[in-house]
Amino acid sequence: MRILKKSVSKHFESFYKDIVDRIGVPKFCATATPARGDCRLENGVAIVRLRTDLNKSSFEQHAAHELLHALQLVEGWPRIVSSLPDESPIVELGIRLQSIVLDLSVEERAKQMGFDSTQNMDAQYQNLNKEMLIQMLLLGRQSILSIGLLNSDIV
Ligand SMILES: [Zn+2]
Repeated sequence: MRILKKSVSKHFESFYKDIVDRIGVPKFCATATPARGDCRLENGVAIVRLRTDLNKSSFEQHAAHELLHALQLVEGWPRIVSSLPDESPIVELGIRLQSIVLDLSVEERAKQMGFDSTQNMDAQYQNLNKEMLIQMLLLGRQSILSIGLLNSDIV
């Protein structure tokens, strides 16, 4: 089996069939952006963009990751935004929260299904540690200040 002209392993093929049973046949597009890829739903069809300049195992890990995001979309997991439209603290906070919830869940599922791509994840999402949580609190504080809900003297 081939995806975007790249041959995939039997293991990936059986994972893919399982996903197709749940979300229907996705449409794949090649992307050259530095990101891992992304996915969205268009009229109920999952559109999955993937980089093709990766070796077979990285390609499969990224494809599995994005297909599991597609499954989340079909399952109705909430999303805030898919890219960074501006750099306001509120948007950044939203994106970080979204990543923690969606990416951690995707990675957990991917691991269970034999596609452990945690080594490819951005360092900031690799470990949900205390420092990251403190950063989130600070972003939350900045966000609340930026919309004028709190007086900076109080916070
Ligand atoms: Zn992701």
